[in-house]
Amino acid sequence: MRNVEVIVVGGGPAGSSAAARLKAAGADVIILDKERFPRHKLCAGWITPQVMTDLQLEVNDYPHGFLSFRRLHFHVRGPSVALPCVQHSIRRFEFDAWLLGRSGAEVAQHTVRDIRTNGGYYEIDERFRCRYLIGAGGTSCPVRRSLFGEELQRTRALQTVTLELEFPWDWRDADCHLWFFEHGLPGYSWYVPKASGWLNVGVGGMATRLKRLGENIRQHWSYLAAKLQRQFGIDVPLEPAGYSYYVRAFGEPMRIGNGFLTGDSAGLATRDLCEGIGPAIRSGQQAADAILTGAEYTLDGIAGSSLGGGLISHCMDWAFTRGAGRSSAPKQPMAGDAHGLNSSSPSRYKDQRR
Ligand SMILES: Cc1cc2nc3c(=O)[nH]c(=O)nc-3n(C[C@H](O)[C@H](O)[C@H](O)COP(=O)(O)OP(=O)(O)OC[C@H]3O[C@@H](n4cnc5c(N)ncnc54)[C@H](O)[C@@H]3O)c2cc1C
Repeated sequence: MRNVEVIVVGGGPAGSSAAARLKAAGADVIILDKERFPRHKLCAGWITPQVMTDLQLEVNDYPHGFLSFRRLHFHVRGPSVALPCVQHSIRRFEFDAWLLGRSGAEVAQHTVRDIRTNGGYYEIDERFRCRYLIGAGGTSCPVRRSLFGEELQRTRALQTVTLELEFPWDWRDADCHLWFFEHGLPGYSWYVPKASGWLNVGVGGMATRLKRLGENIRQHWSYLAAKLQRQFGIDVPLEPAGYSYYVRAFGEPMRIGNGFLTGDSAGLATRDLCEGIGPAIRSGQQAADAILTGAEYTLDGIAGSSLGGGLISHCMDWAFTRGAGRSSAPKQPMAGDAHGLNSSSPSRYKDQRR
């Protein structure tokens, strides 16, 4: 049995951000991921300036393809507006592997299946044991399933389903396009150019609302493919691939004992644009801070909207989720700091950060 102070399950943006902060503070941390990196991750790869700040990432330090959009075209059932902006795109294949390497943490390829608690420790597959466990394994994270299963039921109305494709395409301008609510889609489709002649296109919508309409996301992919042909002369070269994740509910417990949920495992994507990379990074960092300082793990400072929470983002949120998953009185995080993280028994890492 390998003994480690902190185990992070999942090496995506949430896991690598948590591990980077823990490692920088001298913590004994290992990341377990079922994939060998670089690994494929379905994602448009749009990142915001806030992500750059949170990662302390300078464009010149990034060794892979990086593109900044000059304009963002919002199309809402026909009418369009082109907004000047500073937003960026990366390829997840490259970005995630780079972040993971930059974290400095040890990474082991291992599919986590069984998690047990035993005498204040978490034991994983009878091979790894730790005091602190961070769930960063995406929508189907085994930490969520094992430790939070009964406390944290998924709110189906917050589930989004997607289809997307990334392929080489000689795009002519670096503008990004988003089409909202076309053909009654409770969501939007996108066209995101990337550096070195790559293009990501896709469509996402709220699963239960699609079902209620008697539709599925494939129909909306067909509409998008036809539009891409008409508008840009693109013959979509391959079948798309799909993935499902959850947008933000509020007031849910994200910590039980010394087990934490971050990123998609916690369902933190924004409710207006389903943006999940930024919330994954912030939550990973905040979970690490809670371990290092003994501070409460809260999702304060992790925005639930991409568009700033104004009228437009509220309208989008409402159009997508109909207000689902907003509890009027936030539940308290689960008590159960059984392993000495409260103020009377501070984390052993607390002093190392001062
Ligand atoms: C089609 C699509 C487009 C998107 N576009 C954008 C966008 O443009 N911008 C944006 O901000 N967000 C976007 N998102 C959301 C974003 O991709 C996610 O919110 C983000 O990747 C969450 O990061 P994470 O670290 O929580 O999880 P992930 O990136 O999913 O990482 C989870 C890791 O856990 C590992 N894992 C899973 N199970 C196990 C196990 N049992 N044992 C060990 N390891 C395991 C996986 O291999 C994976 O490496 C998009 C999502 C989709 C599906």
